[in-house]
Order: sequence, then structure tokens, then C-alpha cells
Amino acid sequence: MKVLVYGSGQLAQMMYLAAAPLGVIVSAVDVFTETVVDPVSKKPTGVSLSQAIYDASAITIEFEHVPEHLLLEADKSGKLYPNVASILAGADRVREKVLLSKNKIPNCDYLIINHVDQLDGVVAALGEKVIFKASRDGYDGYGQWRISTAAELLALRHEFSLLDLKKVPLIAEKMMQFEREISLLGARSKDGRVVCFSLAENLHHEGQLHVSVAPITKLSDTLQQKANDIFATLATSMEYVGVLAVELFQCGEELYVNEIAPRVHNSGHWTQQGCSTSQFEQHIRAVLGLPLGSTEVIGVSAMVNIIGCTTFNRDLIGIPNVHLHWYGKEVRVKRKMGHINVIADSHANLGLKLKQLIEFLPLEHFPKLEGEATRLQ
Ligand code: ATP
Ligand code: MG
Ligand code: MG
Repeated sequence: MKVLVYGSGQLAQMMYLAAAPLGVIVSAVDVFTETVVDPVSKKPTGVSLSQAIYDASAITIEFEHVPEHLLLEADKSGKLYPNVASILAGADRVREKVLLSKNKIPNCDYLIINHVDQLDGVVAALGEKVIFKASRDGYDGYGQWRISTAAELLALRHEFSLLDLKKVPLIAEKMMQFEREISLLGARSKDGRVVCFSLAENLHHEGQLHVSVAPITKLSDTLQQKANDIFATLATSMEYVGVLAVELFQCGEELYVNEIAPRVHNSGHWTQQGCSTSQFEQHIRAVLGLPLGSTEVIGVSAMVNIIGCTTFNRDLIGIPNVHLHWYGKEVRVKRKMGHINVIADSHANLGLKLKQLIEFLPLEHFPKLEGEATRLQ
């Protein structure tokens, strides 16, 4: 069986690696050149895109910002999972907010800005602490502006007046005072079965994910259940098939959805060693209509992103239950180069292991790690 993935980054590569033991071959589409490539070497396979669509048993994405004409072309085959509407809901914050409201899922208060004059009402509606997000093409905190006073908003007015807000509106969102950021990944099968992974706790730095810990500390059954219910409501209402990520803000026992990603997600990489079935294998199973796998956890996991850095001691793989996943990309500032999965039998021992790991890493590239290791211990 073959699966065709639109997007040719590390997520496609990890789907390829997870699919191989099932006898499933994954090819990737470089969405900028519209060529079919090998997901590891990124070299063209020589197969035309239309032939690859024909050959595939299922077609999916690793990147929600796939140009719409490519999505529609793939959809004509009847083999695209998740469906186009789900992908667009993850790619466009206006559609995403409509989806959340329709399903009465708590999310951050917001206004849609499609004319600069609407900026006048922002502070009255949302307060002075506001985050503006471009409704399309944002990731890792790019395409965002934060203000904490009305004066800062005035200063941004000129910059916003240069944007084509009719075409790509802004979402003005109230800055939330959350306790922590968590995410829920789960999968929905073609026959409507929903299986969730354990909640992960996510530490960001400058709008970018640095460390995830799963299961979260202080996990209560009610919190996990609340998140699972949000997941099931969303996935079912979208008739979603595949793995879906839901980013959440936790305030006490309340959960607010920040955004969704209609694909496998960085905050689910811990499942590669920390779970009976990884998110990548689960996604392949779902889009092919195979039975979903168990999401039982194997101990407690941390996932540490390696960002903009190649200078670390690779002997870190000598620490028991520490695993390196390297993507083979050229280094750039803020670029995700790889990640490290660390497994232990308790949060305290996970903290100890992270302390061991720190010895192998240049800490300036891992600003969240030491604090997290201490917290877990
Ligand atoms: P991703 O790489 O996760 O797709 P993104 O660019 O789509 O990121 P968001 O997830 O919307 O952006 O925001 C990035 C981060 O900014 C969040 O993880 C959170 O730390 C912070 N943030 C976003 N919205 C809010 C908010 N309303 N209140 C407080 N913090 C926020
Ligand atoms: Mg996003
Ligand atoms: Mg996000």
C-alpha cells in the first residue's frame, strides 16, 4: 500500500519511518515545486504527481498551508484524509473560530479585523493586552503582534494599514492568563472511532515549542476527560479522519482551545518512544482504514526540540532511554533540526534524566530545559 503526503519536511519523513514496518510506502510532495520526492533524501522520485495520486491508497498532509488548488486536485481522487474542510479550518483562523463557536468549544475572546477602522474597538472589547494573528500562513509565532497598551496599538496601525485585510483578515485575541499550555492529540478512524493520546504539557520560547512532557504533571481524570470530550466533539463534527492536534490553555480546571492542527504535531513526538502506538503510525493506520492502535503510555516522556543548533554531543544516545531523531536539514536560526525523546518511570526520574542530558547540550539553545528538569525533580 502507498500513502502520498503533501509536504516534505520532517513530519512526512517520520510518517515514512513509522509506515515501513506495516509494509506501507510513503512518498512526499514538495508543495512548492509540485514534485513527488523521497521523504528522507528529498530527491525527486521521477513519478509524476498525477501518477502518484493514482497509485496511492490514501493521500494526506503534513502541513496545513498546502496551496488550495493542490488540495482540490488531491480531493478529486476521493482518497484525501482528513477532508479539505478540516484542513482549511486548521489553515485559516477565521474558519477555525467559526468551527469552535459552532461547537460551543471555549476559546479566547476575539474580533475579526478586516478593516483598520475596526482597530478602534479592540481595546474596549478585549482589554489592552491583545495578540494579533494573521489569519493565514502563521506558524511558530510568525505572523503575530502583541500589545499591552492602547498606545502600542496606535503604533501598529500604520503597519496593519499596509496589509490586505480584506483578503487575509487579522484575528485580535485577548491575551489569556493561563496556568500552562497543554495539547491533546487523538485520531478518528473512517468508521468514526475516536482514540486520544495522553495530554502533553508544552513549554514555548518566543512563540516556538521547546519542550513537551507527557503525561502532564498533576493530571486529573476530569481534565483528561474534558480534553477528550473537546477532541471528540471537534473530530466528529468535522468528520475528521487521521491524527488531529488540539492546543489548549489551562486555567484552573477550565480548558480553552488556542488552535488546532489537522495533522501530526510536534507536541506528539513523544509518542514515538513513550506510547504503544506513535502518532505517525496512528495517522497512517487511520487514513488507510486500518484498526487504530493502543495509546497506552510507556512511562513518562519528555520531548526536547533541537532548534537552530548542530553543536551538541551525540553521545547523549548513550543515556538509557534517550533517543535522538535527526531530520537532516541545513541549520538556520529558529529552525527545528531534530528532537530528543527521553523516557523515565516517573516525573521525578524524568527530571533527573533531563539533568543528565543537559551535560551533552549547549544550553543557550535549550533555554527551557534546566528549569523544566528542576521542576520535574
Ligand atoms: P504553531 O507553531 O503552534 O502553529 P502559531 O504561530 O500558529 O504556532 P499560536 O499557537 O496561535 O501560533 O501562538 C503561539 C504561542 O503564543 C502560543 O503557544 C502561546 O504561547 C502564545 N499565545 C497565542 N495566543 C495567545 C493568547 N490568546 N493568550 C496568551 N498567549 C497566547
Ligand atoms: Mg499554528
Ligand atoms: Mg500553536
